Amino acid sequence: ISAQAKDGKYIIGTDVTFAPFEYQDTDGNYVGIDMDLLKAIAQDQGFEYEVKPLGFSASLQALETNQVDGMIAGMSITDERKATFDFSEPYFESGVVMAIAESDESIKSYEDLAGKTVAVKTGTTGSAFAETLQKDIDFKINTFEDSANMYEDVQAGNSDAAFEDYPVMAYALKNDRLKLKTPLDPEPGDKYGFAVNKDTNPELLEMFDAGLINIRANGKYQEILDTYIGEDA
Ligand code: GLN
Repeated sequence: ISAQAKDGKYIIGTDVTFAPFEYQDTDGNYVGIDMDLLKAIAQDQGFEYEVKPLGFSASLQALETNQVDGMIAGMSITDERKATFDFSEPYFESGVVMAIAESDESIKSYEDLAGKTVAVKTGTTGSAFAETLQKDIDFKINTFEDSANMYEDVQAGNSDAAFEDYPVMAYALKNDRLKLKTPLDPEPGDKYGFAVNKDTNPELLEMFDAGLINIRANGKYQEILDTYIGEDA
């Protein structure tokens, strides 16, 4: 039985803070690209939903155990995840980037992480990327459940670097006055998708895809992107 069957609403898991995709505005409402896309698609397709900002790895677990019906959280479509989840068509291009302290001149390549400490967020592609690098480069990993605490650990000097999605890092650098910088180009080839548990709620996935096509065609998709990451945003 899906979580949706309980009260006629789809329950959607998301991250706690992952601006500009999901974050709380000053009134405490969850806003951002993911939140607005979901709202526009639900309106277009006529379904009801409730968002649960559980955190990223908690949302993955909730989805896998059918405690939520869907997940939108700047979630990268990966082959590994496709074994567990079904994804919508991609709706945004992303990629992992390394962030270090603004004052740090000692890290100019991944190799320079040797002997250092890297902060990652549990269950993310950034975390997986750090683990891949760790096979060849000897560094320590500190894990966090959310992005804000991960950045803070680097700013405080406990960790030397963090791995984060570049649109999120770029937004944080621009809006949050973080004392961090990104010395390297992002890793390419990452795309975000909406996910359901494997072979579960297929109609929800179909509606997401159909709604995404419609809001791309009617300009709503672009309007949402412009709101958060346009020239004047
Ligand atoms: N895109 C990354 C992933 O899917 C990070 C997502 C997030 O932290 N919300 O793993």
